[in-house]
Amino acid sequence: MDYDTIAAIATPLGEGAISIIRLSGPEAIATADKLFKGAKSLNDVASHTIHYGKIIDPENGREIEEAMVSVMRQPKTFTREDVVEINCHGGLVSVNRVLEKVLQQDVRLAEPGEFTKRAFLNGRIDLSQAEAVMDLIRAKSDKAIQAALGQMDGHLSRKVHELRAQLLAILAAVEVNIDYPEYDDAEVMTNRLLCEKGAVVIAQLKNLLATAKQGRILRDGLATAIIGRPNVGKSSLMNQLTHENKAIVTDIPGTTRDVIEEYVTLNGIPLKLIDTAGIRDTDDIVEKIGVSRSRAALKSADLVLFLLNASQPLDDEDRQLMAIIRDMPAIIIVNKIDLPAKLSFAEVEALAGAHPVLRLSLLNETGISALENKISELFFDEGIEKNEADYLSNPRHIALIRKAEKALVEAVNAAKSGLPVDMVQIDIQNAWNLLGEIVGETVSDQLINELFSKFCLGK
Ligand code: GDP
Ligand code: ZN
Repeated sequence: MDYDTIAAIATPLGEGAISIIRLSGPEAIATADKLFKGAKSLNDVASHTIHYGKIIDPENGREIEEAMVSVMRQPKTFTREDVVEINCHGGLVSVNRVLEKVLQQDVRLAEPGEFTKRAFLNGRIDLSQAEAVMDLIRAKSDKAIQAALGQMDGHLSRKVHELRAQLLAILAAVEVNIDYPEYDDAEVMTNRLLCEKGAVVIAQLKNLLATAKQGRILRDGLATAIIGRPNVGKSSLMNQLTHENKAIVTDIPGTTRDVIEEYVTLNGIPLKLIDTAGIRDTDDIVEKIGVSRSRAALKSADLVLFLLNASQPLDDEDRQLMAIIRDMPAIIIVNKIDLPAKLSFAEVEALAGAHPVLRLSLLNETGISALENKISELFFDEGIEKNEADYLSNPRHIALIRKAEKALVEAVNAAKSGLPVDMVQIDIQNAWNLLGEIVGETVSDQLINELFSKFCLGK
């Protein structure tokens, strides 16, 4: 299919050393050539080559900017269209001037995600791979990047295609049965076969879903609340975590962050520290909000780090907080063990119930790695190192796989209870469609537009 030519700044806005303007579409090379003065016309250069020259105003020939221009002819490009990338080294002002000149030609400003959308529409990548591009942009840790890269590489797509092929084989068997009802034996055969084969697919879907919790953590970070009485060391813990474990935070152009979130990465697991503004800057907001507000902050937490002070006896507030977090994933941290102990470790252990209790001195920086290991253990029992590429992490994919599993369970139950085989067929077909939505084979234009509109400009 032929589309119009689009352009956008492909690098994050701001004062970077180099900014790239990307053009894609049938007029990309001709347009760039009109603005380019170099040793050769860009129309004549070989594909996948880069050229030094000046960017000029085509109206009057005046030089605007010095640039390196890459020319990539279709189909071996990200969008499968002709692509030109203009690398400008000036600041924001000159990049915008170049973009302005580009847009005065037969070129339109790309919508957010439109380059990726074209890669999808032109069949270069499927929908789950396109979504991985977005996840990659937003990845908060190296593990999340590995997961997104795996998905972009088609790990999930291949799995989904495999599962759909199995469903198609079942559907084909059912079809034979419907077309040749005179074979009475076939009916019995098919129902039993259906239960067996259906169960095999269900097991595979369950395996995928089992990775979803970890996948979501890798993708979005483990929402972590640090709580405890004033002066136990919350800010100290926060500072040590943030200073020594810089998280990878990519700036997303065009979005404002209304919630201040702090990410740190421990053993490859991204933690999203809740309410860090309160804990950090106005040190004592959190301390003053007391138990009732803590309760609210805890609601959205995947993990609670509850600090106690070894040099003071437990008090009622400690006991109340301990009761509140009883049923949440939590680690009890007894801090300040460098000081003479005044609290009863036996009482702490008793109140902690199933929660692990760690002894730390944030002052001496002892026990931090034990804390890191404990967090990995709690959320990744098999260790996080292996095949992060195969974690299911996108909420849309997770929801679709859940629904597909449900539809298949219904199909198998229907077959077991001897319902007519065409009833069973509907559920299997449904599962097949749901899985198709993951890779974008059975998906509406509206959903496609919605998904791509969430991307960034220039991607
Ligand atoms: P918050 O009120 O819970 O945020 O506690 P802070 O992190 O502000 O710490 C309160 C005080 O305890 C500060 O003076 C810290 O230096 C000190 N502190 C933190 N951790 C330790 C520790 O392990 N040992 C000792 N002796 N002091 C600590
Ligand atoms: Zn504090």
